[in-house]
Amino acid sequence: MTNSHTDPSVYKSNPDQNGNSGLLEKPLPFLNDREEDRVPDALPFIVDAHVHLFPEYLFSSVWKWFDEHGWPIRYKLTSEEVIKFLLLRGINHIVALQYAHKPGVARELNTYMAKLCKTYPQVTGMATVFPGEDDAGSILENAFQDGLKGLKLHCHVQCFDMNSGSMQELYEVCSFHRKPLIMHVGREPKSPAYPCDPYLLCRADKLEQVLKEHPDLNICVPHLGADEFDGYRHLIENYDNLWLDTTMTLADYLPMDYFPKLSAMRADRIMFGTDFPNLPYAWDREIKRLAGLNLPGNTLARILGGNASEFYSINAAGLIG
Ligand SMILES: [Zn+2]
Repeated sequence: MTNSHTDPSVYKSNPDQNGNSGLLEKPLPFLNDREEDRVPDALPFIVDAHVHLFPEYLFSSVWKWFDEHGWPIRYKLTSEEVIKFLLLRGINHIVALQYAHKPGVARELNTYMAKLCKTYPQVTGMATVFPGEDDAGSILENAFQDGLKGLKLHCHVQCFDMNSGSMQELYEVCSFHRKPLIMHVGREPKSPAYPCDPYLLCRADKLEQVLKEHPDLNICVPHLGADEFDGYRHLIENYDNLWLDTTMTLADYLPMDYFPKLSAMRADRIMFGTDFPNLPYAWDREIKRLAGLNLPGNTLARILGGNASEFYSINAAGLIG
């Protein structure tokens, strides 16, 4: 079998050799913080560039996992309810993500996502594939033909080595079709309940190798690259094919000592995203904090929607220049 898991040591049990169990060593708390009915007034075009949509049976197992190992999920909504919830509250566009947790399910998930995108033009859907599965390249080709606009991969769930041979085909298909790749390859939030150790699989210098080898491939790493924030800040300064999304890092929720200042980062490479609906706090917690940062010039407009519109080729009127 072709396999993206070239190094058996990635299956080491947690905690790793340094005794690091990760941010999710124990489940994190529910926050009953106040939520508003709308996004704050007078914000420019808003893209939530990190929203999860799944068929109901998969949402149920994702929530069960989060309730046991991650955090209590505050918004247990179906995909269509998620879309309507956000649009009604003033989010203008949604980038929707899902991930195949095992071989053999990606085609069905891609068909599901493509159908949602046809029903809701405000949704830009990402394809999924399980790295190393048979036919991975053609699964991806078919998803793009069906209207999906990029690929989402999640290292903690899918346990791939981003530098392994079988990943190259996925990078090449994305590059060839000029489709972006959103890839959770930061080390956190690590959970002992994941089947592999993200601290062994995910490192900024491993991503740097992908960026160098595939200069035509545009990559977004969620959570500002948590927890290697400085490493990722340097990477976006040095590589024009890397972007980061803010997901959960603006919420003052994850138990970390340090978060980077957005104002000190390259403004044309950061995208606003939330992880909705898989949140333990108010849906608008991050956007209120982002709006309150008093970011200079058009930085707020870029982070809220401009950068994501470019990265994901979202067509919408009224975008910033
Ligand atoms: Zn996510």
